[in-house]
Amino acid sequence: MRYLSTRGGDAVSAAQAIVMGISPSGGLFVPESFPKLDPASLSGNYRDDAFRVMSLYLTETEPEKLKDIIDRAYDRFDTKAVAPVVGLTETESVLELWHGPTMAFKDVALQILPYLMKESLVQTGEDQTVYILVATSGDTGKAALEGFRDVEGTRVLVFYPYGGVSRMQRLQMVTQEGANMDVCAVRGNFDDAQTGVKQIFASEEMKRELGEAGYRLSSANSINFGRLLPQIVYYFTSYHALVENGRISEGDPVNFCVPTGNFGDILAGYYAVRMGLPVRKLICASNRNNVLTDFFRRGIYNANRPFYKSMSCSIDILVSSNLERLLYEIIERDTETVTEWMRALKEEGTYSIPEAQRAALSDLFEADWCSEEDTLQTIRRVFGSRGYLMDPHTAVAQTVYERYVERTGDETQTILLSTANPYKFASDVLSIFETPGEDDFENAERLRQITGKGIPANLRELCRKPELHTDVCNLDEMPERVRFGVSK
Ligand SMILES: *Cc1c(COP(=O)(O)O)cnc(C)c1O
Repeated sequence: MRYLSTRGGDAVSAAQAIVMGISPSGGLFVPESFPKLDPASLSGNYRDDAFRVMSLYLTETEPEKLKDIIDRAYDRFDTKAVAPVVGLTETESVLELWHGPTMAFKDVALQILPYLMKESLVQTGEDQTVYILVATSGDTGKAALEGFRDVEGTRVLVFYPYGGVSRMQRLQMVTQEGANMDVCAVRGNFDDAQTGVKQIFASEEMKRELGEAGYRLSSANSINFGRLLPQIVYYFTSYHALVENGRISEGDPVNFCVPTGNFGDILAGYYAVRMGLPVRKLICASNRNNVLTDFFRRGIYNANRPFYKSMSCSIDILVSSNLERLLYEIIERDTETVTEWMRALKEEGTYSIPEAQRAALSDLFEADWCSEEDTLQTIRRVFGSRGYLMDPHTAVAQTVYERYVERTGDETQTILLSTANPYKFASDVLSIFETPGEDDFENAERLRQITGKGIPANLRELCRKPELHTDVCNLDEMPERVRFGVSK
């Protein structure tokens, strides 16, 4: 399998796409074709099924090697199922993606990416240290740090928005141990940090300078194809689980509802559809930062709007990077048009797609958004009626799904992607029961007393760890911070 760039240029191997992260033309790497996979051929064992899906895209990696990578990655999950499916109502099931070491869905991919990166470095004969720059809205940072910790031949620097992540998320990052790890807060929001990182990737001067020092830049954000690939897997396995538990018959379509920020998770669902998974609707759920809702409804992407900080902070995003991969497919891989839209987005903050394409998209995609108040009410209501405790991101998706059903009467079996453990946002979740105090750990303990749900061990340990990474920089200081990172 070869990989193309959404903005044109030469095709590359999977290994090259993973090592580079972003294409030389500034575009994103996409598979040259979508291999077909019949969900009926899956085994129900997550690791075996992950191998089935991923091997179709990593044709140059030896099967035994890939099996070993998958085994090692998912050994760190707290359940053999990796991504268990839990029935919530007669028509709805929850796909829990937060059983990895950092308690958010990013682990599903970021436990694998470091091994894929290592293997790709061997395949491409790279002799420089890979310097991974990460911009995080809260969860990618920790998951990347945990995944790449002490991985030979790599260094990681994470930028997170100062004051823009939950306290637990911040603590998870700033207490990170490991010789190749570095974390810095940025005075700006996630979009600013992501733009800063993209500018560093695009800078020839930076590339040359770091190259001379023995470093090559790469990305662990979902712009890296190695991040997307492991996410395709759970669309297939959760579908298979519904067949196994008798909710659907083989071949029946299902809906997926996904809390979305950078459009990475839901794009993996779109790729699954292209591979042949029977899907009626992919429901794209946003919080108040509802730029994607407007895009799907009107065909206009407009990032010129206020940026709101919300409880579901991991989806506080106005520039959804992975949408570029979807645009590329719907415009029939016309790289010039994609390049023009992305130029307009960068320079004017907006672009629009033709009505024919917008209409075609609405056959598959639904989109809606959820306010802060509704997020809390949904957590309260679902816990009250079903005894199931949701984090704010999952609750955003749940709200959007319930409204979709009210509007359409659609009774198709639906899989809700649950992307974080509720204790990662313990203070906000506690606020549905009582006024939370100042201390996150006491709030988590209160939440445990009230709900009876166990606190994950990794979170409990956080309060005892020293803060190791307390740097803060301004946006224009990011390049300097990257240089400093290699001299440390
Ligand atoms: C990252 C994240 C999302 C959104 O994923 P995208 O790939 O950015 O769409 C949703 N929920 C949580 C908890 C996350 O960490």
